[in-house]
Amino acid sequence: MKMARTILFVLLLALSGCSRFEHVKGVHVLLQKPEVRQRYGGEMGALADELKEAGVTHVIVPVMEDGTAYYPSDVLPQRWEYGTELLAFRHALRRRNINFVAQIPIFRDDYTYRSQPAIRAVDEFGSRTGSENLSALCPTDPDYREYKLKAIEEVMLILQPDGIYLDNLSFPLEQTDICPDMLVAHSRNYCFCPMCLKSFSEHALIEFPKTSSANEINEWILNDHENAWIQWKTGVITTFMEKANKRIHNIDPECKIMLNVLPWKEDEHNRGRQRLAGQDVKTLAPFTDNFIIKTSCRIPDENYDAIRLSLLEELENTGTQIIPTIQLEIEPPHSAEKDFQHSLQYFKHRVIVSDWGYMLKNRRYLNIFITEPII
Ligand SMILES: [Zn+2]
Repeated sequence: MKMARTILFVLLLALSGCSRFEHVKGVHVLLQKPEVRQRYGGEMGALADELKEAGVTHVIVPVMEDGTAYYPSDVLPQRWEYGTELLAFRHALRRRNINFVAQIPIFRDDYTYRSQPAIRAVDEFGSRTGSENLSALCPTDPDYREYKLKAIEEVMLILQPDGIYLDNLSFPLEQTDICPDMLVAHSRNYCFCPMCLKSFSEHALIEFPKTSSANEINEWILNDHENAWIQWKTGVITTFMEKANKRIHNIDPECKIMLNVLPWKEDEHNRGRQRLAGQDVKTLAPFTDNFIIKTSCRIPDENYDAIRLSLLEELENTGTQIIPTIQLEIEPPHSAEKDFQHSLQYFKHRVIVSDWGYMLKNRRYLNIFITEPII
């Protein structure tokens, strides 16, 4: 009996090991893109068939944007015009054994930004104008956090996704990339709204100097209490992730959680990922299956891989995987096909491509995507 139990335990361990290292050939699909609509109309089965033929294992689909849900929702204020098309697509993928991953933006929401001025994120100069372009919300507001968690739960129940892909789970970011290096130095720090300042002072057990102006206090925090500030910020983001993980797994313990993180090495830009985004992959890892990285400029695969490896090193082998995204939209025409083929082969075990609509429009890329990577 004891022997049987040991064998079972070893088997389970081996199985969990396998799923952790599963092969990922992912692609972003935006159902509302004109190329996608023109080709398939509402024929979700035809779209799913072509994805299957291309060897796709994971399809990442936005399920909401701003205040609009792309499925029949009771939580979000608005619904899109395509009825239950997304639901039909989800079922078509299930029938073909393709993982459906629901993409959900967290602290970026134009609808809420317009309708609730009080939770617009505030920069270190006490201004809300910087967050406007980003529709960036304060990540500490308890009501908004609960609203997003409820939306995640609703997606879990209605769409029953195999994975959840969390986007913008960070403090507002003016630079989300590795490319415009020079600009990062001028990136504003968030959030200095009254709620965040109160939360920070309680967390760090720090009393603000009473005689100072608001801007002086912000400056004083960044200059004299930077470590505590970073620790508080990463705490705000990690506690949301912890709660999201719990609510997701309460509904489906098998659902995989993906999180988009800044593609910077740990010490880059003065610990920029933690300092600006509040993303600490070490504390997030227990609640995350895959960290996703993206760049909006073309960099050699070797450099991209160095970022992936540095994140893995930071994680100290926790088992969480890093998946790079290849963004086709930003590449120059003509010369980039060979690069695309190289990238697919280079990251052949786990890679995500953005996006299907672009490849429909540029069939040469689609042909490469269908045949690569060869494992
Ligand atoms: Zn705030």
